[in-house]
Amino acid sequence: MPRRNWAGNVRYAARRFHRPTSVDELRRLVAGSDRLRVVGTGHSFNRLGDTTGDLVSLAGLPPEITIDPERRTVTVAAALRYGDVATRVHAEGYALANLASLPHISVAGAVATGTHGSGEANGNLATAVAALELVTADGELLRVDRDTDGDTFAGMVVGLGALGVVTRVTLDLVPAFDVRQYVHLGLPREELDAAFGSAYSVSLFTDWRSPRIAQVWRKQRADQAAPPPGWLGTTAADTACHPVPGMPAENCTTQLGVPGPWHERLPHFRLGFTPSSGDELQSEYHVPRAAAAEVLAALDPVAHLIAPVLQICELRTVAADRLWLSPNYDRDSLAVHFTWSDDAAAVLPVVAAVEERLAPFAPRPHWGKVFGLAPERVAAAHPRYADFAALLTRLDPAGTFRTELLDRYFPR
Ligand SMILES: Cc1cc2nc3c(=O)[nH]c(=O)nc-3n(C[C@H](O)[C@H](O)[C@H](O)COP(=O)(O)OP(=O)(O)OC[C@H]3O[C@@H](n4cnc5c(N)ncnc54)[C@H](O)[C@@H]3O)c2cc1C
Repeated sequence: MPRRNWAGNVRYAARRFHRPTSVDELRRLVAGSDRLRVVGTGHSFNRLGDTTGDLVSLAGLPPEITIDPERRTVTVAAALRYGDVATRVHAEGYALANLASLPHISVAGAVATGTHGSGEANGNLATAVAALELVTADGELLRVDRDTDGDTFAGMVVGLGALGVVTRVTLDLVPAFDVRQYVHLGLPREELDAAFGSAYSVSLFTDWRSPRIAQVWRKQRADQAAPPPGWLGTTAADTACHPVPGMPAENCTTQLGVPGPWHERLPHFRLGFTPSSGDELQSEYHVPRAAAAEVLAALDPVAHLIAPVLQICELRTVAADRLWLSPNYDRDSLAVHFTWSDDAAAVLPVVAAVEERLAPFAPRPHWGKVFGLAPERVAAAHPRYADFAALLTRLDPAGTFRTELLDRYFPR
């Protein structure tokens, strides 16, 4: 089991590492521990998932994937990667409504932080969760579902790993569909809204060195008409692209309008390839979708600080939801993502400058990435924050799943 996260910027402080092979073994482990966290695939960039006690990987539990055709759901072992789940449900004629840029992340880890893809009408990945099974701090197995547990369920899905160890996740399915991916170069900023509304899932990449958006990745349903030449003032890419200049495009999902299954087009990166070496840090902020143009204008004055420590900035849209700690709670969102260089000392002051510029938009940070926003600002941006804090105390009164980061943001 790795002792560091994927990016290598977090060395886990745990004293003991565990890889249980059954839920009963896991239950005994949790009941006997006073400090415990789970690690998924380690793709987070902060210490949310770290502990000084027991760090547990669920990768040794049976890799269950059970499709329920009547309910149109799939129940999966928490540690499975989206890419593995996707391949299996696709073989049975189903799809997940959306995926993140990377298929290598675990289902439970992604859901716990409100991980998202893009699309004006697509919620984040946690919105597809219909039920959860988790081991709570007392070692008991708890099952909650959307229909029976209503508002409490909405509080538990984006749970930050703080409410228990999720062992199974049930996800909604939709019929399988095909997607064509096109990349367009040099989008004028004034066309941002038109671009976002133009396809099922749209990502904009900018380097903050030019007023134009460098690349637009449009993932459109295969039956939608191909974009005309000169679409929105752009040039169509005639070879495959990587979002980060100079990186090999062979790591990326097929482009150039070639139709293919949803799970081989919605992520940016292929399951069989390592997207990069991990030499990066990431930050991301969700702001109101309607303010997209103002948000970019607010960042312009710090573009000269951003550009030198940036690999690439990605803009995506996410539909509003009702999940308490979701960055998209009750708010259609623009997600402003930064892939930074791996030089934390150079990056952190720029993160602070970006947060300052975004302040008027009540930014909600991605829970799994680098951020420094003051706890009271994060609390003020999340209408159900106090409800989550109460749930945390109710389900984990002794603080077994507490971490330093949680204590800072949800003080007892
Ligand atoms: C290259 C790259 C690309 C990315 N692309 C995107 C993207 O497109 N969109 C996006 O929103 N984010 C993206 N992320 C961020 C990533 O999706 C999140 O950080 C996600 O939480 C990582 O999942 P993980 O399984 O690696 O979780 P980890 O980092 O291992 O854990 C994340 C959190 O989940 C908790 N957790 C994990 N498993 C369980 C469990 N079984 N029960 C309870 N809690 C659990 C952990 O304790 C921790 O708090 C990307 C990250 C990388 C490195």
